[in-house]
Amino acid sequence: MQTHQFDAIIVGAGGAGLMAALYASQGGANVAVVSKLYPTRSHTGAALGGIGAALGNLDEDKPLWHAYDTVKGGDYLADQDAVKVLSEEAIDAVIELEHMGLPFDRTPDGRISQRRFGGHTSNFGEKAVRRACNAADRTGHMILQTLYQQCIKNNVRFFDEYHVVDLLMNQGRAVGIVAIQLGTGEFHVFQAKAMLFATGGWGRVWQITSNAHSLTGDGTAILFRRGVPLQDMEFFQFHPTGLYGLGVLLTEGIRGEGGVLLNRNGERFMERYAPSIKDLASRDVVSRAIYMEIREGRGIQGKNYVHLDIRPETVNRYLAEAGESRRIDDAYVAKNLAETLDVCRTYVGVDPLKDPMPVHPTAHYAMGGIPTNVDAEVVIDENQTVLPGLYAAGECACVSCHGANRLGTNSLVDLVVFGRRGGKAIAEFVKHADFTPLPDNPTGEIEAEFERLRSSKGKTRPGELRHMMQQTMMDDVGVFRIEEGMEQGIEKVRDMRERYQNDLHIDDQGHTFNTDLMEAWELGCLLDLAQVTAKSALQRKESRGAHSREDYKKRDDENWMVHTLVSTTHEEAYPKGTLDLNVNLNKKVNTSLADEDPRFLPKERVY
Ligand SMILES: Cc1cc2nc3c(=O)[nH]c(=O)nc-3n(C[C@H](O)[C@H](O)[C@H](O)COP(=O)(O)OP(=O)(O)OC[C@H]3O[C@@H](n4cnc5c(N)ncnc54)[C@H](O)[C@@H]3O)c2cc1C
Repeated sequence: MQTHQFDAIIVGAGGAGLMAALYASQGGANVAVVSKLYPTRSHTGAALGGIGAALGNLDEDKPLWHAYDTVKGGDYLADQDAVKVLSEEAIDAVIELEHMGLPFDRTPDGRISQRRFGGHTSNFGEKAVRRACNAADRTGHMILQTLYQQCIKNNVRFFDEYHVVDLLMNQGRAVGIVAIQLGTGEFHVFQAKAMLFATGGWGRVWQITSNAHSLTGDGTAILFRRGVPLQDMEFFQFHPTGLYGLGVLLTEGIRGEGGVLLNRNGERFMERYAPSIKDLASRDVVSRAIYMEIREGRGIQGKNYVHLDIRPETVNRYLAEAGESRRIDDAYVAKNLAETLDVCRTYVGVDPLKDPMPVHPTAHYAMGGIPTNVDAEVVIDENQTVLPGLYAAGECACVSCHGANRLGTNSLVDLVVFGRRGGKAIAEFVKHADFTPLPDNPTGEIEAEFERLRSSKGKTRPGELRHMMQQTMMDDVGVFRIEEGMEQGIEKVRDMRERYQNDLHIDDQGHTFNTDLMEAWELGCLLDLAQVTAKSALQRKESRGAHSREDYKKRDDENWMVHTLVSTTHEEAYPKGTLDLNVNLNKKVNTSLADEDPRFLPKERVY
C-alpha cells in the first residue's frame, strides 16, 4: 500500500473535476486529480450541443430569463438560490472558457455564436431564444481539452487510471480516499484536507442509455455507503432522441437547427403536445409524447420508435410555414451537425441527409445525487449541515439547480459554474485547515470487500446480473411509473443484491488491469443506486418533471415542494443481507426568486 498527501484531491477528470482542480490550484492549493479514465476520455467529451449562457449575442437575453426557464423546466423543484447563481455566473464562465482558448463557433462579426435549445426562451416563455454556445457539435470535447491543458499548465498532478473505491472519514470529517491503481491492482491511500467528488452520472442503471460504459455512479455510491444521504434520486432524465436500439445520443441541437419529430403518419406530433414551442419543449415532455405515440400505435411501422427529420427539404417546409426567412441546405447540416451524421451513418447505416433518423427515449442524466450547497460543499441534512472537507460538483452532485428535469445545455454550465465555486472554496478551506489523522487500518474494510469479490466462485456472472437490473429498471422505474411496478422492481433488485453477495462468479483472479473485478465492484454501485432510485420514486406520490406516475398523474405543490433525502441505516459500507434505507422528506425547496417575483411561483407548465 502506498500513501500520498495533497492539500486537495479531486476525484474525476470531467468538466467539473478539471474546473475545480484548476481553481483550487490557482488559489494556491497543492492539488491532485485521481481518475479511473484518462482525463480526456471522460463523458464530458461526449457532450455535443452546447453550453447555455444569456450572452445575448444573437437575440436579446437576460440571466433572469435563463433562470425562469431553468426553474420552469425543472418543474419548480430546483432550488432558486442555486438557479440564480447558475444563470448569472454562466456568462462569465463561458467568456472565461473563450479566453482559455476554447474554439467556439462564431457569428459573422466574430462573437460567440448561439443556437436554440429545448425549453430556452426569451421574456418568460415568449419565444425560443438562441442561448446555447457551441463548438460545432463537439462542445464538451472542446471544454475537456481546454481545461485539461490549463490544468497541466498549472501543475495539477494527475493520477490517471486510478479507480477510487472508498472515502475515509475520521472525527466527523472527510480525511482521504482509497484508490486502486488499475495497472498493478495496488491499493493507494490519498490523505487530503479537502476532497471533491466529480464522478459523473449513472445512466448504466438502465438498459437503453446515452451514457458511456464507465458511468456507474461510483462516487455517489461511495459517499452513500459512508453515510451521506442522496437527494432527489427519483429524478432521472430520459432524453427523447436516442438512436433506436442503441440509445446513443442524437443531440437536441438537431431540433434546435429545425429538425422535427414525426410519427408513422408523417405527423409532426409535438404540435399537439406543446403547441407553442413544439419539438423544443423540455425533455420530459417530449419523451413522454414519444412514448404516448408509440403506445397508441403510431410508432414507425408500429414499432417502438419515431422519426427525427433534419433533411433540408422537410425543415425548410416547416420554417416557411412558420413564416421564418431562414433556410438550411446539406452543407449547413454537414457543418453544424457533423457528429450526428457520422454517428447515424456508422451505427445504423442511415444518412440523415437522405432519410429520417429512428429515435426513442434514452436514459441520460441524473438530476439527483450528492446534496451540496452553492459552494459545492456536501451537506448531510435538511438544515444544510456541511460535512467538513467534503465537496461534490457536476452530474454526481445535486445542488439542486435542475430540479425535477434539466434543460439541455445546463449541465455544462453546472460543471463550470459549480466546479469553479468548489475549486475556490477548497483553496480557501485548505489555507486554514490542518490534516486530520487517517483512521486505523484505512484500507481494511475495502480490501476485505475486494478479496470477497475476487474469490467469488458462485454461478452468476456480473454481466448477467447487470443485464437483469437494467431491464428491471427500464420496465419498472423508467419513463412511466406505477406503485405495483416499482414495488416489484424493488423486490427484484433486492434479490439481485442478494445474488451479488452470495452467488457471484469472477473469472479473473489477477492483479493487473483486472477489469472483470472492477466491473463487478461497479455493479455493486449500480445496484445500490438502483435501489435508492426505486425507493425514492415509490415514496414520491405525485408526477413532476422526469418522475411521471400513472397512479398520481398530477403535480402536487401543496405536499411535494420538498427534496427527497435517502440514506442507509447501516454503519458498515458493505452490509450483509438487504439494504435498509431511511427516507427524509423535510428538506424544503428554496424559492428565493419567487419571493421577489411571482412569476417564479409554481404554476402549470405550458410549452
Ligand atoms: C452523449 C451525451 C451528450 C451530452 N450533451 C450535453 C450537452 O450538449 N450539453 C450539456 O449541458 N450536457 C450534455 N450532456 C450531459 C453532460 O455531458 C454531463 O452531465 C457532464 O459532462 C458530466 O460531467 P462531469 O464532470 O460531472 O462527469 P464526467 O465528464 O462524466 O466525468 C466523470 C469523471 O469521473 C471519473 N470517475 C468516475 N468514477 C470514478 C472512480 N471510481 N474513481 C476515479 N475516477 C472516477 C471518470 O474517470 C471521469 O473522469 C451530455 C451527456 C451525454 C452522455
